[in-house]
Amino acid sequence: MKRLALGIFACLVSVSAAPVMNTNQGPTAGQAPSGPGRGSQEPGPTITVQGHTFTQLSLFQRNVGGRDDQTTQFPPHKIIGNIYYVGTRSLAAFLIVTPQGNILVNSTYERNVATIQKSVEQLGFKFSDIKILLGSHAHGDHQEGDALIKQLTGAQVIALAEDVPALRAMKPGGKEHPIDKVLHDGESVTLGGTTLVAHLTPGHSRGCTTWTLKAQEGGKTYDVVIIGSFGTNPGFKLVNNADVPGIAEEFNRAFKVARALPCDVPLGSHPGMYNMEEKYAKLAKGGPNPFIDPAGYKLEVDIDEAMFRAVLAEQQKAAASGRP
Ligand SMILES: [Zn+2]
Repeated sequence: MKRLALGIFACLVSVSAAPVMNTNQGPTAGQAPSGPGRGSQEPGPTITVQGHTFTQLSLFQRNVGGRDDQTTQFPPHKIIGNIYYVGTRSLAAFLIVTPQGNILVNSTYERNVATIQKSVEQLGFKFSDIKILLGSHAHGDHQEGDALIKQLTGAQVIALAEDVPALRAMKPGGKEHPIDKVLHDGESVTLGGTTLVAHLTPGHSRGCTTWTLKAQEGGKTYDVVIIGSFGTNPGFKLVNNADVPGIAEEFNRAFKVARALPCDVPLGSHPGMYNMEEKYAKLAKGGPNPFIDPAGYKLEVDIDEAMFRAVLAEQQKAAASGRP
């Protein structure tokens, strides 16, 4: 269970100066649990959607993997059009290549930055060509490495306003978290003919961002969605959350936004959100691009929303009966 506990903290804690393995400091992010609740290693409610069964814990584990998964390079590969995968086995990082320089989505942990650099170079691109750095949400497993990437590449770091306080609190090795430009819901980032639109899909973090862009391949244009996270992690307090009183409404908003987005190619801050491994294995066999999977996007949103509703119902029931 030890590995699991570390994994949970890895995703929940908005990492500050302490290395992530120092779990003494406990969760500090706005969305983190603010009081006693079900232990974060208990399975939690179970949901089944289209034959896929998860507990709250197993869905979380599917996303974060173990410590090795978080730090081991996954073979870098082209996804579609100008979008490439440069992350680890369980922490996604995407490189979007344009004639005027490249965009990186997610630095992940600071200790993964060298791995991301290696992946970028193995694909034949220059790390120093990263001009813009974006993120999925202000948790350490997705954005702790921002300061180092900024240092190494000079990239402009752009974040959604609602995540700025949590990002500012993320200071690996005491480094200030760089934020060069603040966006609001619906605003976009353009470089070399590629535009990414920022959609505020809060709940998992206050400024959790789902990025959308278009990719061209074989004369066709595809809608790509990079899911920020719709996850209800073990320990999330959805009822009577003193830090984020409207957290349940924020999740509701996220699901509404998610369902309105056209999507041909689902991607996400954790590869488990879009079955990367299985799709990557299909690449070698040729045939249609396996990453084109509109049904997979709907299924993922359905799974995440079913889990959110189940966890919310459980916590509402507990609150009504006076249990913590
Ligand atoms: Zn997270």
